[in-house]
Amino acid sequence: MGQLDHLLKKNRAWADGIKAQDPQFFHRLSNQQAPEYLWIGCADSRVPANQIVDLLPGELFVHRNVANVVVHTDFNCLSVLQFAIEVLKVKHILVVGHYGCGGVRAALLNEGFGLISNWLRHVQDVGHVCQNNIVQEAWRRGQPLTVHGFVYDVADGILRDMGLSVASEEDRERVRQNSIDELVQRPVRSGRQKVVQ
Ligand SMILES: [Zn+2]
Repeated sequence: MGQLDHLLKKNRAWADGIKAQDPQFFHRLSNQQAPEYLWIGCADSRVPANQIVDLLPGELFVHRNVANVVVHTDFNCLSVLQFAIEVLKVKHILVVGHYGCGGVRAALLNEGFGLISNWLRHVQDVGHVCQNNIVQEAWRRGQPLTVHGFVYDVADGILRDMGLSVASEEDRERVRQNSIDELVQRPVRSGRQKVVQ
């Protein structure tokens, strides 16, 4: 008896459940994957990508790390972006932040920012993806690709669109200006309160 037998048992039940509905499901997937979406999200166990958007294996390409960081020096993240865009030709990239992210909080508080900057961080994340060469190249080729900024609330299970969708180089400036306007309209008080926690 292995210590993780319960997981293997759950796995069998899960696979049997899918096969009961669609006997050819795994056979089809074994030949190819053709996901339309790339999810870039936090590694936090409360933010399970496929479950949140109720997608099956083969439907969502996923990259997760602590605080959903996208930087141009991270070759792990870059290889995911490249494979997703150039080989799988995903149509949408979802950059998913979440409320109460320990990774983001640690980074921001270290830098002397409060949680009001959480919003800014998400805007930045979407910006970093849009500035990436692989994404820029795809747009230059005319490949349909939209980068979206979403935020997930672990307290109610709801994923919200932040209205940051960017589908081209021209979109980028418009979205950047919109997010600045949004930031200005937000009550500063709620952010300041959280800083002192
Ligand atoms: Zn997180």
